[in-house]
Amino acid sequence: MKILGIETSCDETGVAIYDSERGIIGDALYSQVELHAEYGGVVPELASRDHVRKTIPLVKEVLKQANCTKEDIDAIAYTKGPGLIGALFVGVGVGRSLAYAWDIPAIGVHHMEGHLLAPMLEDDKPDFPFVALLVSGGHTLLVDVQGLGQYEILGESIDDAAGEAFDKTAKIMGLGYPGGPALAALAEKGRAGIYKLPRPMTDRPGLDFSFSGLKTAVANLYNDSDQSEQSMADIAYAFQEAVVDTIFIKCRRALEQTGHKRLGVDRKSHPAFSALPPSLVVAGGVSANVALRAKLSGLLESKGGKAYYPRPKFCTDNGAMIAYAGYCRYQAILEGKDQFEEPAVRAKPRWPIVELG
Ligand code: ATP
Ligand code: MG
Ligand code: FE
Repeated sequence: MKILGIETSCDETGVAIYDSERGIIGDALYSQVELHAEYGGVVPELASRDHVRKTIPLVKEVLKQANCTKEDIDAIAYTKGPGLIGALFVGVGVGRSLAYAWDIPAIGVHHMEGHLLAPMLEDDKPDFPFVALLVSGGHTLLVDVQGLGQYEILGESIDDAAGEAFDKTAKIMGLGYPGGPALAALAEKGRAGIYKLPRPMTDRPGLDFSFSGLKTAVANLYNDSDQSEQSMADIAYAFQEAVVDTIFIKCRRALEQTGHKRLGVDRKSHPAFSALPPSLVVAGGVSANVALRAKLSGLLESKGGKAYYPRPKFCTDNGAMIAYAGYCRYQAILEGKDQFEEPAVRAKPRWPIVELG
């Protein structure tokens, strides 16, 4: 079975084809980063217009890459939400129209479910159940994942998302937009122990996050520093260390809290519990962060389990994760666990992942 996936929720046009026998056989991405850079953030109207220009050419490109014609495609998956309404409508409109013209089903996919399932495109893939950490430009979510659509939110950010914190902090330090990767690269040159920043909300119980205070703390450090390259690298190091440590502490707690559910029985009364390896799935743009990966992989190793990530190019927005999530949803429909929606062109700019079943 071959699924064509279309992603247009924000500032990346992504199209890919997932083949249930061979995996991803075509994958193309157009990033609008340069278009928005001069405004220091995504301009929704410009984003929509650019998706209109790029979506169909990318569809043609992936069909060619995959050596396919439209007759080979079994269904079309598109991002239905959450995201920017105008941007979403381009993918929804193109996806639904192509499906109608080609006389195949169309499947509206949840963007965060796409991120969450992206590690399953790797050779060494996680099995349900697991704890998922979704860290992207718009979300910071800790989710107890029992199966497809069986999501319980354990914790989330009460203000800035992790990626947003990276981007806003980078902006304060004059690193441009989107500055997350640049800030992470600068942190690699920083020294440990020069600056110390707080680990927000780790001194109390719970799994929620708060990152907005960190950018204010960085602004103060930055303004009081000599703003030399080394000072900037040291500040970037301290910021990244604070974010990574905070996430580490919350993930450790989440794994401890959910351990019992992994068996569906009371953890303490089950003698085999300690033999069960915990799994942590980490996805979304910030899961590309090397320091975060090192720390979380270490955590899972210490617990005898494993952390799973998408390959770096599938951490940020892409069509492959939407094609794959669409495939999983199609399978669920074929198994009678899910159903097709009515053929209306609908996008959901706000869409909590727990609404999925
Ligand atoms: P959402 O998925 O919540 O709707 P989004 O789609 O805009 O938001 P993604 O494309 O998943 O987000 O991720 C983009 C974010 O990831 C940006 O904030 C970017 O700065 C951040 N990011 C990318 N690479 C890194 C890195 N190496 N270190 C830290 N942050 C990174
Ligand atoms: Mg983006
Ligand atoms: Fe995303």
